[in-house]
Amino acid sequence: MLTVKAYGATSATDPLVPLEIDRRDVGPNDVLIEIRYAGICHSDIHTVREEWGPITFPQVVGHEIVGVVAEIGSAVTKHAVGDRVGVGCMVNSCGECDECRAGDEHLCENGNTGTYNSVDVDGTITQGGYSTHVVVNEDFVLRVPEAIPYDKAAPLLCAGITTYSPLAAWGAGPGKKVAVVGLGGLGHMAVKIA
Ligand SMILES: [Zn+2]
Ligand SMILES: [Zn+2]
Repeated sequence: MLTVKAYGATSATDPLVPLEIDRRDVGPNDVLIEIRYAGICHSDIHTVREEWGPITFPQVVGHEIVGVVAEIGSAVTKHAVGDRVGVGCMVNSCGECDECRAGDEHLCENGNTGTYNSVDVDGTITQGGYSTHVVVNEDFVLRVPEAIPYDKAAPLLCAGITTYSPLAAWGAGPGKKVAVVGLGGLGHMAVKIA
């Protein structure tokens, strides 16, 4: 077990406070990430304010995570110590259902494991990126190109993919017109990607 510093919620009504949380030991397929930036998604606020239902406290949110690989498990092949990486909204899935086998882990028939406030493989509740370190299965760790600064990369992990996905699904590209409803955190990202 690794004890790390974090900012977390201790109730639905109090401000986030500095606290310490435990991360699991780095397993054979895990990557330990030293977090450099974590974006703030409105889902983080909804979650800690219990606007989407009761949660377990203390709760550390944040699912737009970027950082550097600090340690890898013995069976890890996709990442190496020192790599620039990111983690988005999910950190695991069953890997065996039809959706997972098709590469659509977010649609896992057994429910994917969210980056925070989700039951992890070891039975603990996942804790997110407002923290110094996180341990994640290598399959849910993405490479971040050198050309993208950490702070610019972080919002791509939720706001970015959320808007990229429909643009890609509907074949947006040169010569196509797109309409974006609402120019907030996601909407402005959609305009830039389009
Ligand atoms: Zn989000
Ligand atoms: Zn699955």
